[in-house]
Amino acid sequence: MKYVIILGDGMADEPIEKLDGKTPLAYANTPTMDFLADMSEVGLAQTIPNGMKPGSDTANLSVLGYNPEVYYSGRSPLEALSIGVPMGADDIALRCNIVTVSEEDNIPYSERTIIDHSSDEISTEDAAILIDAIKPVFENEIFKFYVGTSYRHCLIWKGGEVQDITPPHDILGKVIGDYLPKQDVLRQMMEKSYDILNNHPLNLARAAEGKRKANSIWLWGAGTKPHLDDFTAKTGKIGTMISAVDLLKGIAVGAKMNVVNVEGANGGLHTNYEGKANAAVKALLNDNNDFVYIHVEAPDEMGHQGSIENKVQSIEWLDSRIIKPVYEALKASGQDFRMLILPDHPTPIRLRTHTADPVPYMLFDSTKTDKTNNIYNEVYAQKTGILIKEGHKLIDKLLF
Ligand SMILES: [Zn+2]
Repeated sequence: MKYVIILGDGMADEPIEKLDGKTPLAYANTPTMDFLADMSEVGLAQTIPNGMKPGSDTANLSVLGYNPEVYYSGRSPLEALSIGVPMGADDIALRCNIVTVSEEDNIPYSERTIIDHSSDEISTEDAAILIDAIKPVFENEIFKFYVGTSYRHCLIWKGGEVQDITPPHDILGKVIGDYLPKQDVLRQMMEKSYDILNNHPLNLARAAEGKRKANSIWLWGAGTKPHLDDFTAKTGKIGTMISAVDLLKGIAVGAKMNVVNVEGANGGLHTNYEGKANAAVKALLNDNNDFVYIHVEAPDEMGHQGSIENKVQSIEWLDSRIIKPVYEALKASGQDFRMLILPDHPTPIRLRTHTADPVPYMLFDSTKTDKTNNIYNEVYAQKTGILIKEGHKLIDKLLF
């Protein structure tokens, strides 16, 4: 038996008037999901435990079978695993975004406004130059920077303390003063980074080209070294992760799963769907692999952007360019298989951020093809009355 999870990040939503009162998932043209749902179990799963923050970190841990209440130790440490940062027991990892803040003359740093959490999706190459510029000033035996991808980097703070700091993407357009870290050392580092970066030659060149300056760091997402149980020891299955996102790759590294990097997979709407599907099929047809987790970020990004049309498009492409080829290849291989399709959390267009509501799941088993007459969407899933309250146990239905 082979096992697949196909996860549309942030795919769940609310009924939207412009979509004839349907959710994007219900509205989208998804012939493969419709065909499979008709033979599948459909229900709801609570992937975010009560009182925890809805994010891809907590939610994907749940979906992979790790109770976030036990295993979650912060977002940045999971990303740190993915980029190969060595973490000690008393180390704190922080996400270090390279951001754009406003540059009015003669105002204190705290009165600046945050304009872009990604500095126009800065290239990794440019970001590395700027990280290199701040390193000599801030690095010592306690602080060390590591370059990640695009605007997403990592700071390790030896013997540091974890405090909650607001993610920059949640306060776009706001004056930063109220959201800066309470810890003096981190706040001062951010403030000083502006002095170093705002007139850095690379930023002057960016400004001349009409790009946003990448003129400050923003530290957040602090946490300690994660300790995930070995996925294979836990389940008896050998697993592979396919994702464009460091967070998901880091979870897989922590769980000692295989990680496949797909060229051109970027977390956006125009990602390499075919490349991901091919990589998944290759891993699934390998005798030394039982399970594949395919993560597609696009529906979440479209939810954050508030684009109804693109969210529907991302779901249609998930169906036609991932689910369909993976299903067809497994069917053609003659092997038995189960497929679990779901989002990690909702990212409703109306709110442009995550919620903790339960998500609809659909579980197909190639050995049970009697009609269930089920439909796969949020409203229908709720009507089934099936609710997996401990989301981290949903994977047991897939694997056992
Ligand atoms: Zn998101």
